[in-house]
Amino acid sequence: MPDSHDLAVIGGGLVGSAIAWGAARLGADVALLDEGDVAFRAARGNFGLVWVQSKGDGLPPYANWTRRSAALWPDLAAELSSMTGTDVALRQPGGLHFCLSEQEVEQRAAMISRMHNATGDIGTRLLDRGDVRAMVPGLGPQVQGAAYCPKDGHANPLLLLRALQAGFRRHRGRYLPGARIERITPRGADFAIELGTTHIVVRRIVIAAGLGSATLAPLVGLSMPVRPVRGQIMVTERLRPLLDWPTAQIRQTVEGSIMIGDSHEDVGFDEGTSATEMQRIAARALATFPALGQAQIVRHWGALRVMTQDGAPIYEQSGQYPGAFAATCHSGVTLAGSHALALAPAILDGMLPDELRAFTSERFHVPTV
Ligand SMILES: Cc1cc2nc3c(=O)[nH]c(=O)nc-3n(C[C@H](O)[C@H](O)[C@H](O)COP(=O)(O)OP(=O)(O)OC[C@H]3O[C@@H](n4cnc5c(N)ncnc54)[C@H](O)[C@@H]3O)c2cc1C
Repeated sequence: MPDSHDLAVIGGGLVGSAIAWGAARLGADVALLDEGDVAFRAARGNFGLVWVQSKGDGLPPYANWTRRSAALWPDLAAELSSMTGTDVALRQPGGLHFCLSEQEVEQRAAMISRMHNATGDIGTRLLDRGDVRAMVPGLGPQVQGAAYCPKDGHANPLLLLRALQAGFRRHRGRYLPGARIERITPRGADFAIELGTTHIVVRRIVIAAGLGSATLAPLVGLSMPVRPVRGQIMVTERLRPLLDWPTAQIRQTVEGSIMIGDSHEDVGFDEGTSATEMQRIAARALATFPALGQAQIVRHWGALRVMTQDGAPIYEQSGQYPGAFAATCHSGVTLAGSHALALAPAILDGMLPDELRAFTSERFHVPTV
């Protein structure tokens, strides 16, 4: 007899691990299958923001889902800490987006006003030159202002991944690393997942394989059109406290390192780094904080985001094969609270809630003439 489980999650990155942990903590018998370090893995190369202020501009359900996740994050961090002893270094002091020109100030003001009108006031406000200097010492003369959102925060993404996987195993989840899945066969109401010479049979399945999802999803009647978008990140030596608030481009970790990032490059599946892009993001960081010119860069890397056409997540249950679900996004840290504590229970119930209706892949199926 093959092994059987209530649920299999394909992909042990941040999305899959959060869903698997969230389902296992409710008592489900869950298998988490992951290809491993040879695969592209956004989860091991990201910036660690729990970022709310700009998420969902133009798609209110995405803004609401993100806000819900940020609100669930303290519970997630507390439960992971008490269960695994891992402090994922969650800090939610609010976040800043620095504007380096009047044009950037105007663009940010327009975005704040759009989001306010579409989804309500969450306290995001524009700080002028004087306000932002009073709040953050050491800013360069080019900084014209900033947007501040009290819901923003950050965490240690690698500790988050470790804690989710350790917690999953504590809940008796079955973690199968080194499992590159290529065949999934619907069998009546179940799914058979081929694993080398054997297979496992599951009642429900979640495709959460990051960039690997695009080829797996059609096997169970789903569509997950995702593409890679490279981001490069630099990390400095540990410095004295310099910045109490995370920003989309610069954040100081609890250990004191400054992370510098926020590049978006369309370079296919190239995970490398380039001097020109590093120079560009370093120049912006220096214009914001001239003192960073004295800091040593100790590491840098490139990693691939898992991006949909409109940047919003895909969550969907297969119409052809009920019990098969798609889950992908490009904000796996931010959305970890929602994935673990809201999406996982819905998947176990066999039905996604109405608030996720806007996230099906149907929005990409534009009819052609
Ligand atoms: C530079 C950069 C900065 C980022 N910054 C932030 C940030 O500040 N805040 C934020 O919220 N998000 C950020 N992200 C995004 C975040 O890292 C991703 O949203 C998240 O990692 C996506 O999780 P995932 O599980 O979908 O994909 P991944 O983390 O890529 O994991 C996919 C997993 O699927 C497995 N897999 C693939 N194919 C198969 C297969 N056929 N069979 C079995 N397993 C398979 C792989 O082994 C991998 O472990 C950033 C990403 C990048 C690249």
